[in-house]
Amino acid sequence: MTAFAYNALPGRVIFGSGVAREQLTAEVEALGAKKILVIATGSEADLATELCEPFADRIAATFTEVRPHVPIEVVEQARAAADGADLVLSVGGGSTTGTAKAVALTTGLPILAVPTTYAGSEVTPVWGLTEAGRKTTGTDPRALPRTVVYDPDLTGTLPVELAVASGLNAMAHCVEAFWAPRRNPVSSAIAEDGIRHLATGLANPASREELLLGAYLAGSAFAVAGSGLHHKICHALGGAFDLPHAQTHAIVLPYVLAFNAPHAAEAASRIARALSVSDPVAGLHQLGARLGIPAGLRELGMAESDVDTVLAEIHAPADNPRPVTVAGLRSLLHAAWAGAEPGKDFA
Ligand code: NAD
Repeated sequence: MTAFAYNALPGRVIFGSGVAREQLTAEVEALGAKKILVIATGSEADLATELCEPFADRIAATFTEVRPHVPIEVVEQARAAADGADLVLSVGGGSTTGTAKAVALTTGLPILAVPTTYAGSEVTPVWGLTEAGRKTTGTDPRALPRTVVYDPDLTGTLPVELAVASGLNAMAHCVEAFWAPRRNPVSSAIAEDGIRHLATGLANPASREELLLGAYLAGSAFAVAGSGLHHKICHALGGAFDLPHAQTHAIVLPYVLAFNAPHAAEAASRIARALSVSDPVAGLHQLGARLGIPAGLRELGMAESDVDTVLAEIHAPADNPRPVTVAGLRSLLHAAWAGAEPGKDFA
């Protein structure tokens, strides 16, 4: 029998090649904005200037000091820059969207997000802030952008390595959505289709439309279902050893799938179907290898003894399809560390 609760999220999404240049002004108008704080950094700052040219007279300030992991010092500067504004317009990746979210959290300003990576943050109400080296996250409806303008033309400048890492991160959102705590038939349907688009896009990173659509679906599934065992493991590994976020996700994902698959038959078959493979674990593992993802966590510089160090930091969700024991988690992490073929026996 199926029973679930589903809090559908509001938000307007415009998707298509060219829409950022053609439709951004209309979307600014629709939100009634007269004084806009623009947040953009690096090469995206020039892009933002170009995109905002038709309504340049409404730009109250441009904030470019975005940093990864949204440090509180940066947020305070951005909040000060928002004084008097009636809209936050972000143009950039997850760190830029995250800075806009932190501003909206205390000011209540609406966000118009123009993503330039496949992070997916723009369709979630999840915020994150780093204070004194500690990252705190939370969920708040004020952090959810009011409008998102997805334009595959804007991700064309992403270096291939970044595009691949970002795309595989989105893949982790989709796979995890099948067993994350607030999963429901809607989030699972979105996740399955997300995997399909991401797999097509990753097979040919020039097909940016597939990747961006997959990223949108991945963010949407993650926003509803939440994070499960895979994200708990990667969060603990990242926090303890400062491992690179995207590569850690890409390495660990097939092992978590191998761990859960025998206890999540429907999820496994839907993931296989979306990847167009018979064995979803081998399919994911081979996809990572083809894209140049390191074979194991040891290639990221993690020591074998670190497996035992991090075990206590992993707070496994209570309703993971397979009960998570310390022994099970240890063998999963050992396999992921060594880069062994996933799917071999876990305790
Ligand atoms: P990022 O935003 O840190 O960007 C990485 C680099 O790529 C930056 O130097 C940026 O300037 C550059 N860049 C961005 N777009 C570009 C483009 N089109 N061309 C060339 N360079 C470009 O990285 P990210 O992967 O987009 O985001 C990661 C962050 O997002 C993490 O902190 C993660 O925790 C967060 N995130 C949050 C959520 C959420 O729901 N809150 C979801 C996913 C990710």
